[in-house]
Amino acid sequence: SLTGKTAVVTGSNSGIGLGIAECLAARGARVVINSFSDSDEDHALAEKIAKEHGADVAYIQADMSKGDQCRALLTKAEAKFGSVDILVNNAGIQHVSPIEDFPAAKWDAIIAINLSSAFHTTAAALPIMRKGGWGRVVNIASAHGLTASPYKGAYVAAKHGVVGFTKVTALETAREPITCNAICPGYVLTPLVEAQIPDTMKQYGMGREEVIEKVILDRQPSKEFATVEQLGGTVAFLCSDDAAQITGTTISVDGGWTAL
Ligand code: NAD
Repeated sequence: SLTGKTAVVTGSNSGIGLGIAECLAARGARVVINSFSDSDEDHALAEKIAKEHGADVAYIQADMSKGDQCRALLTKAEAKFGSVDILVNNAGIQHVSPIEDFPAAKWDAIIAINLSSAFHTTAAALPIMRKGGWGRVVNIASAHGLTASPYKGAYVAAKHGVVGFTKVTALETAREPITCNAICPGYVLTPLVEAQIPDTMKQYGMGREEVIEKVILDRQPSKEFATVEQLGGTVAFLCSDDAAQITGTTISVDGGWTAL
């Protein structure tokens, strides 16, 4: 159980981050959910998760493309709940384009949100975790942190960077009761992936099921999506005592993608 622990999950008003936040709340953690927006829906979502799981849940706005806001998220979370024990770096965006046409602003945004944010949040979180005497940093990388695909230059570079930074964080905390690992999901059917299905159907002249099996899950041998619940469970495992000696490594949740 994660009772008494406080978790901050970046980019968690949707998709995988939301699934992880719910899973940690269900296991008794206090949870901070986050995105760049600050709408009534965001705060209502925090209330809904709190009610469903009888947990303390707060929404804290912070734009993960801005280093100072990344750091402020941790300060605000500590002020709200008294500690931060678990940091899940999940916020991420995608853009698909050949290198020569890749908009420089998109490159910068992907590096900032998918990679640099983890540097800023981790830098702010470690002193707080040291005060509490325990910590878990879990970075949501990707199968694209270990392998590549064409036209995803910024994303693949950022995710490989996350895997590298995970190892450095683990080495700098190796003598402390703090671990840092990366989870590398294959395809998960989140709004991010769902949004690509209609265009891909048109592009290939295929139906939904065929696009899912032959195009999207082409490299996922299980031919099934990983689920946000499975990713939440993997984060919870990395937060457990059984995982105390697992640090500086990656766990793939990819239906066999990286075995190919
Ligand atoms: P999603 O679009 O559903 O969720 C992304 C989340 O990040 C949202 O909550 C969004 O609000 C937030 N976000 C975006 N920009 C932000 C910013 N500037 N500041 C704060 N929050 C911001 O996507 P998802 O599929 O749930 O992706 C979550 C993570 O999982 C990403 O890092 C993604 O790269 C990774 N991932 C996803 C898949 C997949 O198949 N869906 C596979 C491997 C890795």
